[in-house]
Amino acid sequence: MKKKYSQDEIVNHLKATGYFFQNSEIYGGLSNSWDFGPLGSLIKKNIRDLWWEYFVTKRTNIVPLDSSIICNPSVWKASGHLDNFSDPLIDCKKCKNRFRVDKLINDFLNDSIVNENNTFDDMKKIIAENKINCPNCNNNDWTEIRNFNLMFETYIGTTEGKKSTVYLRPETAQGIFVNFKNIQRTMRKKIPFGVAQIGKSFRNEITPSNFIYRSREFEQMELEYFTNLENEDKDFDSLLQDMENFIIKELGISKDKIKQNEYSKDEIAHYSKKTVDLFFDFPHGWSELCGISNRGNFDLKNHSEHSKKDLEYFDELNNKKYFPSVIEPSMGLDRLVYAALIDAYEVQEIEDDSRIFLSLDKKIAPYRFCVLPLTNKLKNEAKELYEKIVSYGYSCSYDEAGSIGKRYRRQDAIGTYECITFDFDSIENDKKTITIRNRDTMNQETIKIDKFLEELRIKDVHR
Ligand code: ATP
Repeated sequence: MKKKYSQDEIVNHLKATGYFFQNSEIYGGLSNSWDFGPLGSLIKKNIRDLWWEYFVTKRTNIVPLDSSIICNPSVWKASGHLDNFSDPLIDCKKCKNRFRVDKLINDFLNDSIVNENNTFDDMKKIIAENKINCPNCNNNDWTEIRNFNLMFETYIGTTEGKKSTVYLRPETAQGIFVNFKNIQRTMRKKIPFGVAQIGKSFRNEITPSNFIYRSREFEQMELEYFTNLENEDKDFDSLLQDMENFIIKELGISKDKIKQNEYSKDEIAHYSKKTVDLFFDFPHGWSELCGISNRGNFDLKNHSEHSKKDLEYFDELNNKKYFPSVIEPSMGLDRLVYAALIDAYEVQEIEDDSRIFLSLDKKIAPYRFCVLPLTNKLKNEAKELYEKIVSYGYSCSYDEAGSIGKRYRRQDAIGTYECITFDFDSIENDKKTITIRNRDTMNQETIKIDKFLEELRIKDVHR
C-alpha cells in the first residue's frame, strides 16, 4: 500500500505546478475557492470525457441533456429543496463564529451520531450534555439552532423581491425530472432508459473545506435511470458496480482506497429508498466521493402534483400507466479529480536524489507525451515532431528549458505519461529515432520516428 501524504503537502504541490490557483488571488482571494489551472482543467476534462464515454456513448439506452442552471422556482418547491435543503446552524455569541451543528457535534465526539433526522432539541441536548464549547474561542455561549438553506438566491430582471427571486441549481438532477416527458416523447424511449447530464451545481456550503472536496460551486455528473419496481434493485446493484468499475478501471484509482457505505433507514435523505455512497480515503479521512440512490418515484410524483401535468409513463405492452422508479448514480467531478491526484501523488527516493511524481492513469494524465529536444540545436526539428503529435489529437507538451534530467523531473511532477527525447540520432538519415521514457518505470525505449507516428495515427495504441 502507498504511503499517505498530508493534504497540505499535496495541495502545495498542485498549486506550485499549475493544477490549481486560488480564486481571485490578486485581490486576496475568496475563502475556500479555487480555480482549475491549465493542468487541472486538462485532467478534469479527461475525467469528464471518460464519464461521458462510459455512461452515455457506450450505452444504447442513455440520452444526454443540458438543462438550465436557473429554473422556475416551483421546481425547487416541488423537489423539496426550498423546504428541506438546509443545514442546522449555530453561532457562538462570544466570537461570532458560525458552525454546522451536525459537524460540530460529530467532530467533537469523533463519531457520526447526528444526521438529518435529529431534531434541533436532540442536538441542543447533545451539546449541553457533552459540554461542547466553541472550537474557536472555547466559550460555551451558543445561540439557538436554526436552519440555513443552502441554495444561492438571485434575481431575474431589474427588481429585487419575492416575485423575481430565482435560485442557482443545487443539483443537476431536477432538470432531468422536469424534462422527463419531453425526452421520453421526442426520443421515443421505452423504460428502462436513462438521461445523463454534466454541469455546475451551486451550494452555499457553511463550511467549505478540505481544498476542492467541499466547495460552493462544483460540477456534477448525474444519471437518472428510469426503471420499474420489479427491476429497481437489480438496476441499482448493476449501476453501483459500474460506478466502482469506472473509478477503479477507467480512472485507475486504487481499489484499496475505495469502500462502500450503505445508509440505514434513519440516516437516508427524505427522497431516497436506498443510498450507498462510495467513500475514498482522503487525507482528511474516509469520506463521500460519490453516491447512488434509489429515488423511487419521489421526484416525478411531486412534479406531477405541483405542475398538474401528468408525468406518468404509459407502458403500451401492458396497457398501464405508472410513475417509474429512478436509480441515480451521482458523481462529483471535482471530488474525482482530487481523489485521482491524491492517489497518484508519490515521493520516491532514488539513489541520493528524490522525485515527486504523479502516477496518473495515462487516460487522465494532463499530458500523454512531452517532447524534449536534447539541445537547443535540435529545437526546430523537435518542434515539428511536437506539432505532428498534437495534430493527431494527442495531449502533448513541449519543454526545452534546463538539463534533460531536470526536465524529466518536471514532467514526472505533473504526471506526463511519457517523455520523448529528441537527440542527434533523431536527425541522422539512417537512424531517425527517438527515445521514449516511461514516467513510472523510468525505462527508456528507442523507436523509429516513422514507426511511432504510424502507431499513433493508425493503431491508436498510445492513447
Ligand atoms: P455531502 O454529504 O458531502 O455534503 P451530499 O450527500 O450532499 O454530499 P449529493 O447531494 O449526494 O452530496 O451530491 C452528489 C455528489 O456531488 C457527491 O457525492 C459529491 O461527489 C458531489 N458534491 C456534493 N456537494 C459537493 C460540494 N459542496 N463540493 C464538491 N462536490 C460536491
